[in-house]
Amino acid sequence: MPLSVFSLFTTLLLSSAAYAADDTFTWPNNTLAAVSLSYDDALHSQLDNAVAALNKYDLKGSFYLTLASPVFQTRKQEWQAIAEQGHELGNHTINHACRGSLPNRSWVTPENDLDKKTLAELVSEVKTANSILKQLDNQELRTFTLPCTDNLAGGEDYLKEVTPLFIGIKSNVADIPKSMQSVNIKRVSVISAENLTGEQLIALVKEAGSHGTMVNFTFHGVGGDHLAISSKAHLTLLSFLAKHRNHYWVDTFRNISLHITSHQE
Ligand SMILES: [Zn+2]
Repeated sequence: MPLSVFSLFTTLLLSSAAYAADDTFTWPNNTLAAVSLSYDDALHSQLDNAVAALNKYDLKGSFYLTLASPVFQTRKQEWQAIAEQGHELGNHTINHACRGSLPNRSWVTPENDLDKKTLAELVSEVKTANSILKQLDNQELRTFTLPCTDNLAGGEDYLKEVTPLFIGIKSNVADIPKSMQSVNIKRVSVISAENLTGEQLIALVKEAGSHGTMVNFTFHGVGGDHLAISSKAHLTLLSFLAKHRNHYWVDTFRNISLHITSHQE
């Protein structure tokens, strides 16, 4: 065949192969989408409200613990107990340092300003947090959520340095992915769920289902504490997910990460 037709032919072949790879991505039991329920910062309302709701509907969540939090320190046995129930304990650093130089960051204290810390300090902190969490849950594989979505410690990219320590990383806030091909499991985006209603949360799950992708909810307070959603909104979402298990795969981010990695390899 003439060269131009040949190159068109190979181009078509290549592009159809790319589509085929996307089309063959499947979730367990042919569900439409994966749903990760994450709870950041180690808050009282998570142990007091969110865990009971998850257990009521037999759904598993991922708890990204800030280990310097008094709520971690004083309720350690309860965090250990939820890991035994099948929930995930994730790394969210020890001190939750964020960049004080960014807009609206007057709440960042000078001693915990990520701009004033070093890459070495943060890498060490993240490794120590992994060891402490392992003492609680005895898990080898761990996931991470980047505090404040800030990756620069003293101007250097600490997220890049700690990436090999984790099987999945939530690093930024963005819309629901339109295809799984675009998802990098070490740089997953989340939906910040504060103040959303149950109906809004459910609409996001359905949107992920329409794309065959995933929705990663990041909650903070549930019926209390900061950046909260109401207990009612949270229960409405969980009740919907429990009723539609055949459509939506709800699991820990650890298990979702393992599934995506095995598909992409
Ligand atoms: Zn946080």
